[in-house]
Order: sequence, then C-alpha cells, then structure tokens
Amino acid sequence: MPINTVFLDRDGVINYDRPDYVKSRNEFRFIPGSRKALALLAGSGMKVILITNQSAVGRGIITSAGLESIHRHLLAGVKAAGGRIDDILYCPHRPEDDCSCRKPRPGLLLQAAARHCLRLDQAVMIGDSAKDIQAARAAGCNAAYLVKTGHWQEALAELGAAGQVPDKVFANLLEAAGWIMATWRPEAARFPARDC
Ligand SMILES: [Mg+2]
Ligand SMILES: [Zn+2]
Repeated sequence: MPINTVFLDRDGVINYDRPDYVKSRNEFRFIPGSRKALALLAGSGMKVILITNQSAVGRGIITSAGLESIHRHLLAGVKAAGGRIDDILYCPHRPEDDCSCRKPRPGLLLQAAARHCLRLDQAVMIGDSAKDIQAARAAGCNAAYLVKTGHWQEALAELGAAGQVPDKVFANLLEAAGWIMATWRPEAARFPARDC
C-alpha cells in the first residue's frame, strides 16, 4: 500500500522548540536539514501537512495573526528551498480547555483527512513528543515516527510508561524523509485517496 500523506509536527521537528514558545519570526529557527527533507518529500506525490499544538495563542502569549505571520515565514523558507507544505492545522487551545483538537487527541488529523480527502491508514506522522505519536495512533495512522531533534527523551519515557512505542526513531526529519522515500514508494500516491 502506498503512503499518501506525511503529517508533521512543527516545533522540535521543522524548527527548534523553545520553552517560552516561538513568539515571532525572529525566534523561529529551522533545524538543519529540515528544509532539505521537505524538498525531498515534495518530489513525491504525497501530501505534506503540518499539525501543531499552539497553546501560546490560547494563553494570550501570541495572537492568531502573529502565529499566521510565523507560518507565512515558515512556508516562504520551505518554498525557497524547493519544498512544499500543503496545509497547516493548529490547535490554539490550552490543555485545560479540554478541546478535541489538541494532540494527543486526533481532532486535527481527522479535520485534515476530511478537508483533503485523505485515508489515515495511508498516512504517517513524524513528531518529537509522545503527544504526536499518541494522536497518530488515535487517528489510525499507518505509522508514527519519532525524531531526536526535540523532546524525544521525555517522549520515549512517557510512551514507555503508557506501554507505547514509536514505529521508528530517526535522528532528524531529513533521515526520516529519506527513509520514507526509500521505503514507501510515495511516487505511487494518488488523490483523492478515497470517495468523499
Ligand atoms: Mg514538537
Ligand atoms: Zn484545540
């Protein structure tokens, strides 16, 4: 079965995470190799979709306009390197808001599947935290991969305590993208992936 979609977490996967949140374009720093990874994935037929928790919005630390400005900067940087991101879905809520879209809940993945007519069993998720892996499992993604560029040590401990493991662990997004391209025959990706 070909893989049609790569879901990506943002902070700790594409750009460096910050304990005080990425609040501006100035604080946004690409992780080395992440733009190259996106260029590699863009050469396939796969959809590439960002799925990100951004509780800084709900906490009043940044506005949604500020977040969207950071995302335009991200998209421009990716495009300049030959990459492509088809959509960005974010959860603006705080954990205590108990929404259905904040990872580890699968809401954003389900929204993306509905919007783009995706099959989640033909999708993989790449993240740096336990929440990413758990959201992928809850949504029924084909596989969930962890990268070691963010909170991976805490992630492995948290997953282990819950009796869960990622399907694979990669050094970074570039290594994950290379493996996906070599393994999943993504050039066979076709859309729409199902009737909808
Ligand atoms: Mg992250
Ligand atoms: Zn939410």
